[in-house]
Amino acid sequence: MLVRMKTKHLRVDLISIFPEMLEPYLTGSILGRAQKAKLLDLRTHNLRQWTHDAHQSVDDRPFGGGPGMVMKVAPFHEALVALKVRTKDGKTLRQTRGKKTRVILTSAKGKTFTQQDARRLAKYDRLVFLCGRYEGVDERVADYLADEELSIGNYVLTGGELAALVMTDAVARLRPGVLGKEASLDMESHDIEGVLEYPHYTRPERYPLSKTKSWNVPAILLSGDHAKINTWRKSKQ
Ligand code: SAH
Repeated sequence: MLVRMKTKHLRVDLISIFPEMLEPYLTGSILGRAQKAKLLDLRTHNLRQWTHDAHQSVDDRPFGGGPGMVMKVAPFHEALVALKVRTKDGKTLRQTRGKKTRVILTSAKGKTFTQQDARRLAKYDRLVFLCGRYEGVDERVADYLADEELSIGNYVLTGGELAALVMTDAVARLRPGVLGKEASLDMESHDIEGVLEYPHYTRPERYPLSKTKSWNVPAILLSGDHAKINTWRKSKQ
């Protein structure tokens, strides 16, 4: 399903202590091409630039005790002030120069990201992903800075970078022109809750493994009977 919107270009800011991990994915293949075509503007930022001590520390020990380190609220707040999506006194600038922005905190305990969320987020002009590390992020980031907290699944990653990339990728491909051939957005898996795409086959018809054994394409797909093919495909969804 193609998401239609007024402005053509989606800006995504990804804030992380490992921006170099994000870059290769954002500049490769389809996302890279879409950036060159000015359909996407994907920017990585090193969170450490918004620290003020010699060690550029972004984390500290948890109040109340417990293992691990917690990411501080200040660098994330300063990052969002610098990116003009929050004010110094913590207010939301959701409509910076008429642009609709959404700030997303990557979080293992957040709501699970789905195709529906991808379609919803594709309608924004700008997304900002905050990538956590260590034991997690000071809860005030979720409470006062992020618009929402999203998880990419029920497992724990070492950081939010992969999660931010997964969500950026799923959203970006829904923007007009990004996939090139927009028809490929029709009838995809998850367009309707729980309905997956039918199986695909391409040449060769017969993939020979030995003189007597081969893996074959279902004969119906070679029949040329489109009504039958459609019925078969629906039966496989
Ligand atoms: N102690 C936390 C996990 C911290 S993992 C807990 O038990 O919930 C470190 C960071 O990785 C998190 O702050 C988050 O930004 C990111 N992360 C881990 N798993 C994730 C997931 N499934 N989805 C999105 N982000 C995740």
